[in-house]
Amino acid sequence: MTQQPVDYILVGQGLAGSCLALQLLYRQKKIVVIDQPTPTSASRVAAGLFNPITGKVMEKTWLADDLFPYLEKFYRQAEAYTGSSFYHPMPLYRPFISIEEQNAWMGKSASADYEQYLEHIHLSTWHANEVHNPFGGLLLKRCGYLNTKNFIHAVRSTLRIQGALLEEFFDEDQLQFEAESVTYKGIGASSIVYCTGEQIRHSRNFSWLPIRALKGETLTISSPVSVNTIYNRGVYVVPDIWKVGATYAKDDLRPEITEAGKTELVEKLNELIAFPYRITGQEWGFRPTTPDRRPMLGLHPKYTQLAVFNGLGTKGVSLAPYFSEIFTDWLENGSPLNNAADLNRYKSLYWKSA
Ligand SMILES: Cc1cc2nc3c(=O)[nH]c(=O)nc-3n(C[C@H](O)[C@H](O)[C@H](O)COP(=O)(O)OP(=O)(O)OC[C@H]3O[C@@H](n4cnc5c(N)ncnc54)[C@H](O)[C@@H]3O)c2cc1C
Repeated sequence: MTQQPVDYILVGQGLAGSCLALQLLYRQKKIVVIDQPTPTSASRVAAGLFNPITGKVMEKTWLADDLFPYLEKFYRQAEAYTGSSFYHPMPLYRPFISIEEQNAWMGKSASADYEQYLEHIHLSTWHANEVHNPFGGLLLKRCGYLNTKNFIHAVRSTLRIQGALLEEFFDEDQLQFEAESVTYKGIGASSIVYCTGEQIRHSRNFSWLPIRALKGETLTISSPVSVNTIYNRGVYVVPDIWKVGATYAKDDLRPEITEAGKTELVEKLNELIAFPYRITGQEWGFRPTTPDRRPMLGLHPKYTQLAVFNGLGTKGVSLAPYFSEIFTDWLENGSPLNNAADLNRYKSLYWKSA
């Protein structure tokens, strides 16, 4: 099969591949995306939550002041471009577990650092029929969820219409390298970008990268109540799509849902919410994580026609838009990559393995 050459072949169409594909299409680049869909890929099972204040101690997430304004603009533009709906801003409420925590947040709320993300601090019970919160809690703004299945579907339809989608397994044995380009099954390209999530662990060219699979499970529930807030403490509950998640099981590589995962989620959910629900489903997936929790972008140290956009870890929804732009500007114009995300930080692992 010989086809017109393209600028880029992207392998994988999860959040990484979808965001990167849009950035390249906006710049009028010729692309082909090769993706063999997997129902359990991280992007398809994710609840799609985005939240600038995260973690057990609730701190502003890395680069929040850049990521959150950018993601809003990006997903709205993507909705307009694909003619679909998937971006859902929504407040997030996190109950306090003690008076001490409440006091600590009263102090923090005065800081300009947090002000733009805080809608309100509730000092006593709020929405008692929905959430257990005897000490009140934090109502955060600039949060919400991306309906990841709809987003991926919308980008896929756009690619299909443009004749830029190959729905098949990408077979590295079919690669042919030339001096400054690479050919895959007769399609020439200046670069191939691997956006293959945790599957990159099985790549002949990139298995040396320290991407680890971190298993997560989610539940889907149904409920007769109407809720307009995401609740989050121990677990999150996203209304509309009614997803509850997620577990973090780093040593479990079994490709299946577990009773332990379900029990953990149900126990935490019962501590958090006060409304009735019924479990209707359970899913699992592997997040592509890195040792330093930063994305992984850059070129193969030897085969410079091969590039990687990966390492989105637990926060693909907020990281993928911003870093797909940084990565595209770097590929196209040589603009600087964010050092913390540059895969050069791990390239010595390649030379050790070669
Ligand atoms: C249970 C769970 C809940 C999560 N919840 C959230 C959340 O609420 N918010 C958030 O921001 N993040 C969340 N995440 C993390 C988020 O899902 C990931 O950061 C993100 O989806 C990673 O996207 P990706 O495109 O790199 O990888 P993937 O989603 O794994 O996509 C890779 C794609 O490449 C394809 N592929 C791989 N190899 C090949 C090949 N050889 N040939 C063809 N196709 C190939 C795969 O089929 C897949 O379609 C969650 C993850 C899990 C598992």
